[in-house]
Amino acid sequence: MRCRKCTQNAQVELRRHGLALCAAHYLEWFEAQTARAIRRHKMIREGDRVLVAISGGKDSLALWEVLTRLGYEATGLHIQLGIGEYSERAYEVTTRFARERGLPLIVVDLAESYGLGVPELSLATGRVACSGCGLSKRYLMNEVAREEGFNVVATGHNLDDEAAVLLGNVLRWQTDALPRQGPVLPEREGLARRIKPFYLFTEREVASYALLRRIAYQHEECPNATGAKSLLYKEALNRLEERMPGTKQAFLEQFLKKIQPILAEGLGAQEVALKECERCGAPTTGETCAFCRLWDQAYRRAKKRKLLPESRAFEPRPRARRVAPEEG
Ligand code: SF4
Ligand SMILES: [Zn+2]
Ligand SMILES: [Zn+2]
Repeated sequence: MRCRKCTQNAQVELRRHGLALCAAHYLEWFEAQTARAIRRHKMIREGDRVLVAISGGKDSLALWEVLTRLGYEATGLHIQLGIGEYSERAYEVTTRFARERGLPLIVVDLAESYGLGVPELSLATGRVACSGCGLSKRYLMNEVAREEGFNVVATGHNLDDEAAVLLGNVLRWQTDALPRQGPVLPEREGLARRIKPFYLFTEREVASYALLRRIAYQHEECPNATGAKSLLYKEALNRLEERMPGTKQAFLEQFLKKIQPILAEGLGAQEVALKECERCGAPTTGETCAFCRLWDQAYRRAKKRKLLPESRAFEPRPRARRVAPEEG
């Protein structure tokens, strides 16, 4: 098969677009499509300061690469979760990526900041690992952005992730989550704008980009992801996609075009004003934010289990460390 744009052999076939491209033209296409998504949804505007969440996987590193190539100054934020070798390797690939490209990186180590990593947090709270981990990551992304003066937080969520979340929400008719799903969550009091520039690329397309750009990323999945419902949803959508190319994109895009605006309008009317958490000052709808409540509970139980010394008090402010490229 030949590249649509030149006579070279095609390296990537994009069935849902009826397109086959050589390596050079694929890279060009991928970056131009990202730029288009950013423009179309006004994800990044003049004067914005962008923080990009970096797990060390292909999506986040590819996003950092593309944003940088498109001329945006994006600072990376890596949250060290303390999940054994998986987290050590994630830290390694992330710092190497930043060092090799001379990019600014901020690291927050959960255990260093709060005395507990994700496994201990799960043990102390009795909640599944992903629940405390997801909540802490969302909180820390916004808090670091707030403290360091970033007004945009970019994440590498792709079409497979977004379609799987949508399917999960639709299967349970999660009317509180559905209106908030989209490539951009606008800024509000104390909350950075959340953007997902890769929301229309499949996982395979992002992997092809990372491979062709020779990005060394972490291939292994988090051990806690095994058995996650999101993987089941992805599998189901992949089976549909195989028989009907374009299904995933249509499912997400048609929702965003036809249904989400109606739901968001309804939500706008009942949007609750945000106040400052009495413990940490982060925006919240209650008196204390979910992060402070979670960690307060974790501290009480962790002390009983001797996972933390009696004398240690919970201090919400994260210890964000700037990893200068040469120190990484
Ligand atoms: S799979 Fe769960 S525990 Fe692992 S990084 Fe994701 S949210 Fe955290
Ligand atoms: Zn070509
Ligand atoms: Zn709080």
